[in-house]
Amino acid sequence: MPIPDAPAPAPADVIVVGGGVVGLATAWRLRAAGASVMVVDPDPGHGAGWAAAGMLAPVGEAHFGEEPLVLLALAAAARWPSFAAELTDETGLPTGLLSTGSLLIGADPSDRASIEDVLAFQRSLGLDAERLTATEARSAEPLLAPSVAGGARFPGDHQVDNRLVLAALRAACGGEGVSFVADRVARVDVEADRVTGVTLEGGATLAGSVVVVAAGSWSGTLGGLPDDVRPPVRPVHGVTLRLRAGDGTPWLGRVVRGLVHGRHCYVVPRADGSLVVGASAEERGFSDAVPARAVHDLLADARTLLPVVDEYELTEATAGLRPTTPDNAPVLGPAGPTGLVLATGHYRNGFLLAPLTADAVAGWVTGAPVPEVARSFGVGRFATGPVPAAP
Ligand SMILES: Cc1cc2nc3c(=O)[nH]c(=O)nc-3n(C[C@H](O)[C@H](O)[C@H](O)COP(=O)(O)OP(=O)(O)OC[C@H]3O[C@@H](n4cnc5c(N)ncnc54)[C@H](O)[C@@H]3O)c2cc1C
Repeated sequence: MPIPDAPAPAPADVIVVGGGVVGLATAWRLRAAGASVMVVDPDPGHGAGWAAAGMLAPVGEAHFGEEPLVLLALAAAARWPSFAAELTDETGLPTGLLSTGSLLIGADPSDRASIEDVLAFQRSLGLDAERLTATEARSAEPLLAPSVAGGARFPGDHQVDNRLVLAALRAACGGEGVSFVADRVARVDVEADRVTGVTLEGGATLAGSVVVVAAGSWSGTLGGLPDDVRPPVRPVHGVTLRLRAGDGTPWLGRVVRGLVHGRHCYVVPRADGSLVVGASAEERGFSDAVPARAVHDLLADARTLLPVVDEYELTEATAGLRPTTPDNAPVLGPAGPTGLVLATGHYRNGFLLAPLTADAVAGWVTGAPVPEVARSFGVGRFATGPVPAAP
């Protein structure tokens, strides 16, 4: 008997383009709010989030000139405990949320001086950041090298296990009845200034009255988006390493971020004793190759801070593409034709920002309350507008 064609998917209220951490969290929240939701992604649950470290770091990631993003990040961090609890309640799956805080450690006096500048900025914003002498740093984390120059503690910066979160979100979406289409979207379809669905790369169309663009670094490449609302997203390449503890290897107690002779790195311990070491940051277009230099530099910097790294086994080096915008903040909210919603550009904070992004998008689509802090991140902030006439 011939194999029948698979039935065409039923029309969805909402089509989410991209099933990375942002798309999956958003689909889950939209479905819970009553929408019929379809996620289109050839490889859901991967994307940049597969390479990520899962740090929830509103303070450690606070940078000069990014004050609005800091407010968003703090609001997102506050949502994580209930988001993680709900995810685990619904799926029975862990998220690896560890609330053990983070350290930022300078390898030499010049690194320490740079950390002092960052600390002054963080404190000027009222962020929870404490200065640590070298002795205080080593008593907070005894595995630090005796040579470290001190640094800072961020008691409110925590972590999840990114891959556990992706698996739990996938399961939560499945459990709620979100449907998945394993394909790539070529184009968002628009008629009479209203979204009607998407066209897949093979030419098939899917109908939907709302399309959420959550395709990470690829969000700006989708066809059909009007130029004035096309998110200005580009990929910033990053590598993380995964290391397994040997028998008897002492366990690191918390996230250690480092500045090592001017270079940033971090070492993130998991509940099973393994480590994630990250991360390089390079403009390499859409390449996901792993440069040998990145592996070398990350290992060298991690063992400068934490000599115990030598006792671990290197099991993986993975590259991912951080979806990045000109101001390093995400692009959120309705834009252009009726039914188009943007949820992209989360750069180095996609895990941290996912719960807040998901609630905001669910609000915009279903009419539920939208967190106020999310409203400042529309794509309109990048519009240059007409050149004013000369006086
Ligand atoms: C090395 C590294 C370390 C990081 N560490 C952290 C961290 O510690 N904490 C943190 O909060 N964040 C971290 N991040 C950032 C975080 O991973 C990203 O911000 C986040 O993954 C962005 O999520 P996303 O769903 O928007 O994009 P992605 O995770 O990239 O997912 C996009 C999805 O869209 C799909 N897609 C693409 N094109 C199409 C198309 N045409 N049609 C359908 N689907 C499509 C892809 O297959 C993919 O699954 C890190 C990132 C990297 C690379």
